[in-house]
Formats: sequence, structure tokens, C-alpha cells
Amino acid sequence: QFRRRNIAGLLKDRLPARVVALMREAGELADRLEVKLYVVGGIVRDLLLGIDNLDLDLVVEGNGLAFAKALARAQRGQVKVHERFGTARVTLADGFKVDVATARAEYYEYPTALPTVEQGSVKKDLYRRDFTINTLAVRLNRRQFGELIDFFGGERDLKGRTIRVLHSLSFVEDPTRVFRAIRFAVRFDFVLSRETRALIQGVVKMDLLRRLSKHRLTDELQLVLSEREPGKAIALMDELEVLACLHPDLELTPRLRTLLKATEEALDWYRLLFLDRPMESWLVYLMAMLQVLPDQAVGEVLKRIELSARQEAAVRAGRFGGHRIFRELGRRPAVSPAAVYRALSGTSDETLVFLMAKSKSEHVRRQLSAYVTTYQRMRPALKGDDLKRMGLKPGPLYRRILSKLLEARLNGVVNNEEDERALVRSLIGGRKSAVDRPEPPF
Ligand code: ATP
Repeated sequence: QFRRRNIAGLLKDRLPARVVALMREAGELADRLEVKLYVVGGIVRDLLLGIDNLDLDLVVEGNGLAFAKALARAQRGQVKVHERFGTARVTLADGFKVDVATARAEYYEYPTALPTVEQGSVKKDLYRRDFTINTLAVRLNRRQFGELIDFFGGERDLKGRTIRVLHSLSFVEDPTRVFRAIRFAVRFDFVLSRETRALIQGVVKMDLLRRLSKHRLTDELQLVLSEREPGKAIALMDELEVLACLHPDLELTPRLRTLLKATEEALDWYRLLFLDRPMESWLVYLMAMLQVLPDQAVGEVLKRIELSARQEAAVRAGRFGGHRIFRELGRRPAVSPAAVYRALSGTSDETLVFLMAKSKSEHVRRQLSAYVTTYQRMRPALKGDDLKRMGLKPGPLYRRILSKLLEARLNGVVNNEEDERALVRSLIGGRKSAVDRPEPPF
């Protein structure tokens, strides 16, 4: 009924030894509990593709929750059970996580048949998944350890680099799979099978994507635009007319193509500079898409999706705030660093990166770059406490002084703490009312 081959050797070669050891121990535990145990899904797919993936998803034919608890006990880990879904997450002592699910207890070949034992319920469990390449399983029980189980032609499609649904109602059942198909196709550089493509076009025609809740649409959009090559994903969404679920007028125009390329370059620049700073790069791609829509359509898209207040502010600033900023930074002779700071302070890094991509002026880009790399994080050496120690009475004056200090720092008027103290003294000179006690000697 299905192809079998043993890939225990591949597991050993490609996965860290402790993960393989864990798999073996889990398999032996399953033997003791007399249940069948499989590792399924993305990790098996990626193993065969030679891609690193350590998301251990286990499916138990039998009581998955009891198995998860026993696994946690045996491995001295913690278990968190989701009774309703029949799933559990086991967290091992070192933080490694394993997801455990219960496969349905029985599987019927056809409605009137007796439950089959051999093909067990894991087949049913796998049949509920999205694409053939995600339906591969590996048996972990000791005697069958490493046996690859392929009910639906997953290996064939991995070899043929094809994304294929399991049945024709797949996208109707769950339209978010359209986005998943696009993600996997772009991520692995796979093609959509002819039928899969036609089925996507069907749900697009039926307008099913427009019926997705805001929340789900936003989640999927974020995931698609967070893949490594969002430009390609957008091109595929355009080809399949999926972009229209955001707005009927949204399409991949030559202008958008150019902007996407520039976005990618600006993001690469940013990532190279700040490997560890968080950046919601997907928002930058969203800004690029909104850039080619008229103002009113932008509002309509923002109503279709669900962004946090911070995200929406960033997107709006990218789409609508550019003019003011470009006008300011575009002045000649160049405005001072402090003026650049004033124009950009409070702007999110996502917006800044987008402005970098959008601007065609080298002059403007240089200043954006100086802000991102230097000005943005500059602070005066003196703090409020220092002002207090200098005898200044705390109050609104502090903010004014500190901002003057920052401005002077940015413009290179002061370069060290001593300079700053001198500047403070000159700023308050003659304003005795602000000073509590006489200045201490320096
Ligand atoms: P990724 O690397 O993106 O995490 P993954 O394949 O591990 O890829 P997940 O989203 O973590 O993807 O899902 C885990 C498994 O659950 C998948 O292999 C897939 O078979 C299944 N799955 C997830 N979402 C769906 C869905 N909407 N419809 C059907 N199956 C799904």
C-alpha cells in the first residue's frame, strides 16, 4: 500500500546525536507502552532535502497524552497538555522541545470497512495535512526504527520538486493553504502541480481568500513576507491573483518590482550592520506593496488586515511620511546632524529602511544612513543625575538642557563630558533661579 524504506542511517548522519538518541529512547518508551510512534512533518521533509530542522513532531497511535507524560518523566522534562486538541508539548531539561499529538484511534479504509490495523490511524492523521511533501513519517519503535512511511507520494514530489495537495477540496477546507503553497514553493524553489495551481485559481475565483478573517490573513501575509525571498513570493502571488485578496488593484507593476529590489538591498544593508537588532522585515515589504496603491486603497488594505498600533504607525509613516522627511533631508546645503535627528527621531527602523529603499537621492540616503548608524543612538554623556550634582533643581529645564546637549553632541560642538559641563554652565549662566545651591567647584 505504501512505500517503505529505512532511513535510520540518514537520521544518524544528518541529525545531532542527542536528537537521534532521544528518538531511540522515545521509540523504546513507545514499545513499553505498546503504542506506535512516528516522527512526522517538516523535519522529515527537511531531512530528505538536506535542510536543518529540529522541530520534533511526534504522532502516537494510541494515547498520545499518556505517552507525552511518560516521555517527560523518563527525560526529566516538563509537559504541557492541550486536552482539547489531544496534543502536548514536552520541554526537556535543556530546553529542547518535542510536540506530541494523538493520531485518531482508528482508520477506516472506506466507510463500511473494519478499522485497518497495519495502516493505522497515522494515515488518517497525515491525510489531514496540506501537501504531500508534509505527509512523510518515520517510525520510531525499536524494531522498525527509521522506517520511512510514505502514503501519499511525498518522496516522489520531493524528488520532482512539486507542491501537491492531497485532495481537491483542500483549499476550500482551509484557504490559508494557498499561502502555505506559495511559501513552500518559493522556499524550496518547487513548482505547484498543475492540479494544485488550478485549484488555487478556483478558490481565488470563488473569492474564498477574501473571506479569511483579518487575523488569519495577517498571519499568513506575515509568514509569506518573512520567507527568505519575499520578492519571489509576491511575484507568485501576483501570478496566481492572490494579491487581489488584499486589494483588487494590487499587482506587480514594473515600479513595484524595482521597489522590491531596492527593499531587499536596503534590508541586506541593515542586517549586515545590525545582525542582532530585531527588524520586522515583512512590514517593509508591505510598505513597498502599499506604495504602488493610491492613498484610498492603502486605507482599505489596512482595514483588511490587523496590525498592532506600532506596526500600523510604522507602515503609515513609510507610506505617507516620506515627503516631509525627504524634503527636509534633501535641503542643500545639507541640514545639520541635529536637524536630521529631529526629522527622523521616533521613526521605526522598519520605516527608515523603507525610506532608504524608496529614496532616489544619494544625498538623502547618506543622511538616512548616518542617522541609522550613528545619530539614532547618540546620547549626551551627562544624565539628569549629573545635572542634579551640578546643583540644578530638577524640573522641565532638565529636558531642555539635555536636548541642547544632544544637539551639540550631534553637531560636534561638544565632544566629551567636560565640554558638556561647560556648555551646561554657559546655558544656565545668569539663570540663578534654576540653581538651588552655588555650583560645586569642578
Ligand atoms: P515551517 O518550516 O514553515 O515551520 P512546517 O512544515 O514545519 O514548516 P508548520 O506550519 O510548523 O510547518 O506545520 C507543521 C505541520 O503541520 C506541517 O508539516 C503540515 O503538514 C501541517 N500543517 C500546518 N498547517 C496546516 C494547514 N493549514 N493545513 C494542513 N496541514 C497543516
